Amino acid sequence: MKRSPRDAGKVAPEGGGAPQPQAEAPQPAGKAHVLITGGAGFIGSHLCARFLREGYKVTAIDNFLTGGRRNLRELLTHLDFALIPGDITQPITVLSRVDLVLHFASPASPRDYLMHPIHTMKVDSFGGFYTLGLARAQHARYVLASTSEVYGDPLEHPQREEYWGNVNPVGPRSVYDEVKRFGEALTTAYHRVHGIDTRIARIFNTYGPRMRRHDGRAVPAFIDAALTGRPIEVYGGGTQTRSFCYVDDLIEGIFRLATWPDLAGQVVNLGHDEEFSILELARLVKEFAGSQSPIVERPLPQDDPRRRRPDLTRARKLLGYELRVPLAEGLKRTIAWFAEHAEDQDRAASADERVTHAARV
Ligand code: NAD
Repeated sequence: MKRSPRDAGKVAPEGGGAPQPQAEAPQPAGKAHVLITGGAGFIGSHLCARFLREGYKVTAIDNFLTGGRRNLRELLTHLDFALIPGDITQPITVLSRVDLVLHFASPASPRDYLMHPIHTMKVDSFGGFYTLGLARAQHARYVLASTSEVYGDPLEHPQREEYWGNVNPVGPRSVYDEVKRFGEALTTAYHRVHGIDTRIARIFNTYGPRMRRHDGRAVPAFIDAALTGRPIEVYGGGTQTRSFCYVDDLIEGIFRLATWPDLAGQVVNLGHDEEFSILELARLVKEFAGSQSPIVERPLPQDDPRRRRPDLTRARKLLGYELRVPLAEGLKRTIAWFAEHAEDQDRAASADERVTHAARV
């Protein structure tokens, strides 16, 4: 990654307030340092591993609301890795030099953000100010994890980055959709006003190892039901379509977006562009898991988008983005991982209960 000049020493991001844990770690000369908020989550933990493999020094900040240390188990002893327990909705202080900030903290599954609606709104608003303030003070590059949800229930198909979306601002999903839109606006303002090198990834449905089986998203829910013999529940007949991206393909796209030069101010869709109905997904999971689970219908939740598929032209053009893992292969890998980590998942589920309780009181 291209280096940028920086101010050494203590950084006090904008916003004031109580001091937070300090991300301070020895700085081996010559290694670029990436700070990953939400680093203990599903995507964040894969990003931590990828940046370490590429020779970066990595600091993850996470409050473990929907992620966990277990996702970083193999990285914790790595000399270039630090995990800082901390809440990004509070001011953060980073004493060491930072070259790249990846803001990936946020509950991401509908179940999680509906359980934590106000916290979700803080993560990309207050958390956006703090992380952008940090990037500004450090002259660091900044990448925001945005989402296909900024398109809402889209009236254009497939969704291009130029499409402004169709979002219900007071619907149940608005806490997530609207704060991500706010996060994009804020990130763009810091780019325009302060000249920060920002990049925005609009991430579409991504799945793979380290998702939590009870997070409510379709892939883990179907796999869990298939592996435990419970009914696989599809909403509204399962005719609504989605595209499903295996996590390795997404991580490659994010890595390129974050590290390639001359992309300042870019907004890029990342995900998979092959469309499947939810019913097809359920059938594939059932088949690959060798399951006898029945597939049953449940009522469609409010504001659930009928169709969702990215136009990936920009990602292909700017990033040479390629999709290497077809759905069948990705599902087989994910099912194998879930089968192998059943016990971990049980422990995670009980830890989730404790964290959820703590976050609510
Ligand atoms: P996740 O829930 O697995 O990970 C989010 C992480 O953020 C968790 O480790 C959680 O503990 C942490 N976190 C939450 N609030 C925090 C706070 N206040 N301070 C510090 N850490 C906090 O979700 P994910 O699927 O890995 O999503 C990561 C990012 O990607 C999110 O911003 C999400 O909106 C975005 N995204 C994901 C998908 C997807 O399909 N997985 C799709 C679109 C966008």
